[in-house]
Amino acid sequence: MDAINPATGERIATYEPDSAADVEDALTRADEAFDDWRDRPIREREELLADAADVLRENKRDYAELMTEEMGKPISQAISEVEKCAWVCDHYAEHASAYLQPDGHPSPPGADVQTVYEPLGPVLAVMPWNFPFWQVFRFAAPYLTAGNVGLLKHASNVPGCAEAIEDVFRQAGYPEGVFQTLLIDSDSVDDVLADDRVRAATLTGSGPAGRAVAATAGENLKKTVLELGGSDPFVALDGADLDEAAETGAWARNLNGGQSCIAAKRFVVHTDVYDAFVDRLVDEVESLTVGDPTDEDTEVGPQASPDLMADLHEQVQQSVDAGATVLTGGGPMDREGAFYEPTVLADVPEGCPADSEELFGPVAAVFEVDDEDAAIEKANDTEFGLGASVWTEDRERGRRVARQIDAGCTYVNQLVKSDPRVPFGGVGISGYGRELSEAGIKEFVNRKTLWVE
Ligand code: NDP
Repeated sequence: MDAINPATGERIATYEPDSAADVEDALTRADEAFDDWRDRPIREREELLADAADVLRENKRDYAELMTEEMGKPISQAISEVEKCAWVCDHYAEHASAYLQPDGHPSPPGADVQTVYEPLGPVLAVMPWNFPFWQVFRFAAPYLTAGNVGLLKHASNVPGCAEAIEDVFRQAGYPEGVFQTLLIDSDSVDDVLADDRVRAATLTGSGPAGRAVAATAGENLKKTVLELGGSDPFVALDGADLDEAAETGAWARNLNGGQSCIAAKRFVVHTDVYDAFVDRLVDEVESLTVGDPTDEDTEVGPQASPDLMADLHEQVQQSVDAGATVLTGGGPMDREGAFYEPTVLADVPEGCPADSEELFGPVAAVFEVDDEDAAIEKANDTEFGLGASVWTEDRERGRRVARQIDAGCTYVNQLVKSDPRVPFGGVGISGYGRELSEAGIKEFVNRKTLWVE
């Protein structure tokens, strides 16, 4: 497995993938570790998680630099990502036992009936490269603390991050086998998932990867959580604070080089404010600092690989061929590395890629609508359903519109973001199940009824 720096095209390191025997050893270790780990007091598991948060904070700069090298994330955003990982660890270190307290029920006379929450066993996590630390800690912090053990199959372009994350848990003092990285390619996932010792799987990534993992899990009757792509609407209504909306919208689209499932992708704009909003959006997009991701001032770095950039450009070209207008940007930058110009497309025809597919890069598509009902209709005119953002100074109107958008979350006057305290996940082809908060920690537990007379 080669780790290639997308800003320079240089090979950073080559990793030897795990052999079948290595994977077998890891599965045995996971299985044995679970026997002990599940019976430890939850307080002990919380304390270890707090120690993992300390390891993250102590080595923040090193982990951030690794992400920047392997997938091109601007260093300031990489540092924030490590801090957020420490936050999710702090969160579950503080709240896991409360979240997993047994729940009482109205009990028949003479009986005491409760739901208790018990871990399932080894959970396979198939994770993507876009937030190479955060996506992993989002699953590991709750699931390990609930008493499961973790097996990480990370994206093939971030092997250094995958190994560094395993090392975080080792340094924090986790017992051997509680969290392991498998350096395997996607073709090997089926065999691991079909193994009896693996009890469940979580995947964050593309639709095809999600369908493949869900199909194998289904054949083997294993629970899955899927967090797939999105094509989030960003709805600017008449009466929105346009300066704030445009500034936040440009950032919500271009953060992490636009490679985020919850990025604002389709800008749905009321006709009364269309010209004013779009002018501001283009100004904001053009003012972004694109460049060397190791530079603290860089806001937009390269795409994670030349192939991913080529796919993105193909979607843009097809949209332009179908009739979309390029307001700014529109192609790869004339420089070394996988740099794509922050782009705004208008007059986007129905059914072209910028309308109907996920654009996983710094390309905003703008749509003009006549009224509030048309805005809701356009926002919902997608098979995806991850997040949405609605902008209006009338908060009640915002609440009303937000309730009519089919998505796992809708934010009013705020960009869509994940937060350890609130559930995160989608509907439609954006996936199912929830991560984070109490909902997340309860995804991979046996909700066991305990009836005592
Ligand atoms: P993938 O979905 O292909 O990769 C995500 C993870 O799934 C990786 O670990 C990958 O392994 C693994 N994987 C891929 N195919 C399979 C399979 N058939 N069975 C089991 N595991 C599999 O994302 P890409 O990197 O190819 O990105 C393509 C597109 O996916 C993006 O343009 C974007 O639209 C979407 N995406 C969405 C993300 C999100 O946050 N929701 C994150 C990343 C991508 P390997 O790397 O070895 O192939």
